[in-house]
Amino acid sequence: MSISSLITRANYITDYYKEFRYKQLLTDSRKLAIPHDTIFFAIKGQRHDGHNFIKKLYDKGVRYFIIEDEEAALRNFKNAQEAEGAQLLLVKNSIRALQELAAHHRKQFKLPVIGITGSNGKTIIKEWLSELLADSFQIIKSPKSYNSQIGVPLSVWELSEEHTLAIFEAGISQPHEMEYLEPIIQPNIGIFTNLGSAHDEGFKDRLEKATEKAKLFENCKYLISRDIYSAVNTAILHLKERKGDPHFFGWTTQDVSIYPSAVDMRYLDPNVGGVNVGLYDPHTNQKLNFYLPFSNPAHVENCLHCIVTMLLFEYKEKEIQEKINKLKAVEMRLELKQGIFNCSLIDDTYNNDFGGLQVALDFLLQQSNKPKRTVILSDMPEENQKGLYEKIFQLCAKKGVGRVIAIGENIKRTLLPDTETLIDVKFFTTTEDFLGDFADGDIRFGNEAILIKGARKFEFEKIVEALELKVHGTKLEINLNSLAHNLDYFRSLISPRTRIMAMVKAFGYGSGSNFEIAHLLQYHRVDYLAVAYVDEGIALRNEGIRTPIMVMNPSIDSFEKMYVHKLEPEIYSVATLKRYVEYAKEKAYHLNLAEFGADIKDVFKIHLKLDTGMNRLGFATSDLPILLSLIKAVGESLEVASVFTHLAAADDNQMDDFSSQQIKEFEEWAAELEQQLGYSFLRHAVNSAGIIRFKNAHFEMVRLGLGLYGIDSSKKAQEYLLPISSLKATISQIKVVHPNESIGYSRKGKVERISKIATIAIGYADGYDRRFGNGVGKVYLHGELAPTIGNICMDMCMVDVTEIEDAKEGDEVIIFGEYPTVTDLANTIGTIPYEILTNVSERVKRIFYAD
Ligand SMILES: *Cc1c(COP(=O)(O)O)cnc(C)c1O
Repeated sequence: MSISSLITRANYITDYYKEFRYKQLLTDSRKLAIPHDTIFFAIKGQRHDGHNFIKKLYDKGVRYFIIEDEEAALRNFKNAQEAEGAQLLLVKNSIRALQELAAHHRKQFKLPVIGITGSNGKTIIKEWLSELLADSFQIIKSPKSYNSQIGVPLSVWELSEEHTLAIFEAGISQPHEMEYLEPIIQPNIGIFTNLGSAHDEGFKDRLEKATEKAKLFENCKYLISRDIYSAVNTAILHLKERKGDPHFFGWTTQDVSIYPSAVDMRYLDPNVGGVNVGLYDPHTNQKLNFYLPFSNPAHVENCLHCIVTMLLFEYKEKEIQEKINKLKAVEMRLELKQGIFNCSLIDDTYNNDFGGLQVALDFLLQQSNKPKRTVILSDMPEENQKGLYEKIFQLCAKKGVGRVIAIGENIKRTLLPDTETLIDVKFFTTTEDFLGDFADGDIRFGNEAILIKGARKFEFEKIVEALELKVHGTKLEINLNSLAHNLDYFRSLISPRTRIMAMVKAFGYGSGSNFEIAHLLQYHRVDYLAVAYVDEGIALRNEGIRTPIMVMNPSIDSFEKMYVHKLEPEIYSVATLKRYVEYAKEKAYHLNLAEFGADIKDVFKIHLKLDTGMNRLGFATSDLPILLSLIKAVGESLEVASVFTHLAAADDNQMDDFSSQQIKEFEEWAAELEQQLGYSFLRHAVNSAGIIRFKNAHFEMVRLGLGLYGIDSSKKAQEYLLPISSLKATISQIKVVHPNESIGYSRKGKVERISKIATIAIGYADGYDRRFGNGVGKVYLHGELAPTIGNICMDMCMVDVTEIEDAKEGDEVIIFGEYPTVTDLANTIGTIPYEILTNVSERVKRIFYAD
């Protein structure tokens, strides 16, 4: 049998619909759950080609593959026998095939489908609506923010007979994308959330963006939208001209004629921790009054979209109010918390549905720094679905979960398949039963990662409360998604063949522990990590990091430790090279003796640093002859893995001539070395600013540091990066101080009027520099900046909050984050962002989260 006989050309993927109907669709090979039930879509991405993972998936038991590149797919197998039973369906475009299949699936069902698009608020509106409407419908919704060209079909694929309402979100970043999403979602109710600056760069102007987004509503019977976005209004008018008159439920603060059933909304009383609004019922034209328990304008807007949707479904005023009262400003994020007994907790107590569970389990897997994994799970809202809980237990087992604590009357009735799953399941009827057993010591935890995921009424926040390690006050929050976003941005700047070495030295530029960050980078397939010291490298290995690691400052007595932990030294001087060569020669000899003729050879990889003008560490040109003779003396067991240099002023355009000279010199050195050694190695020269500013010097690898953490010191690309960390502290006490009094040490703080002074729990020992004292530094709270007053103390400092009426004890204040930024702080005291970040002291609690 020839190998190409494995391939079937599939002109119409929908011909396979019946066969595929109950299987899982997979586009990311890392997220494989149930192999024999999976159809893998091999997609060619910018950096990764899904076709490269076919063999790996085949070996795990996957048999169905949708491919678009015949040659790339066949490269996985040597012959037809090796691929026995595999079905490779060749299509023109794998993403389109996935979309066509999902669109066909959608056509099988008749039900209300809410399609949400807009710049902000999509996910929160979806989550809120699904909670508000939960009593009346069996709801399916997109998990988290699955709203892309791939996320949408994957979400819609989960639609099945028992659902009575669907809520899907759609996001686009370029023209024409919505044309593919509309037929997959086929919404009959549309919500246009709002229009902001997100993805502006992909469109000619706001009107084009609004018009593209509005394509989601081509076939909607009802459309909900707000009137203050003029581009949205125009886009909707165009849609109306083309499509006749869908029923518009706009809510308005003005009186705009395109909203025939406009609800007249007025903010009445925005001063009581929420707002009162009056609006008219679009069915009866009766005036209704609501109190919205939010003061944040974005939440108010999102909530109004929800209210109008409920009015559409003919909910009554009182019922709506009751349900709104229970809404919380949702934490849309999976939070990684430190637990007691050396556990880590993933707090996902808001969401509970199958799609969300899959996302959370992947997060659990990604944070695999604990040997054991436990899931605490409640009844699910979609529980009419046949075999749902069986499917869940199976999924948990596949994702390496060792124990499930299942709470709820319904989940308790699940019959466990006894042999297949090696999973320990404990059932409880209520959250209180579980907490009781936990308090009595009948159920224990230790050194494990715990995912806590439950429907709202189970109040799993009580479980989080019981298991969380209590540390007070000052904290540094780190957004792992923003980090991934920044990594993607830098990837878009380099060629797909160029590798990335991510700098995680100094505890990930002050992020605290670099485990979480290293796990994320490993998950996103970064090629190398670099740390400053051997101990940092060992700690990463102990946490299960397998990515190659370079150590920049290896001490000569640590070679053995490095060998054991597979760490690769940077060698920068003849003296260290001599010591390392001696070590390697001896070690290689012993290894060969011990291996009794085995032909396994250990290779000692080193990275050579050349000094081309930084005058810090590195070989000088005159070292070249001795360098070569030393390396050659060891023979094959010593390998130069890379050769690199560091630019002294990559971020400064005044110094570009100097930088170019460095690059040129480096290139010549590297060429000479390559010729003399007789093999090639990776060359790397640029840091974050260099990646942005010296596109001709990326060579085979780049070293990404500060940019990953959201800061561009060259300022050219700052707008494309997201800040990843936010330093927060709380107000411990507020005092009224009179003009004849003083504040703090040396009586430096003085006021000229009766003032309200807040003491906040952060001082120079936490990394808040003393230079921020006496009004130089400003902290952010209640939407305003408050200046420091008096000297900064060791553990606390004082700020003047006279102007901020709402400020009260216990309030959170932001030292840096989205605003003010790390760069703002650095500028005010004349230092650089690197120093501000790495100064945040170890005692400040770190919180990692993904949103
Ligand atoms: C820290 C470091 C980098 C990263 O620099 P950034 O400016 O943070 O991107 C690159 N190379 C070397 C040798 C470094 O020490």
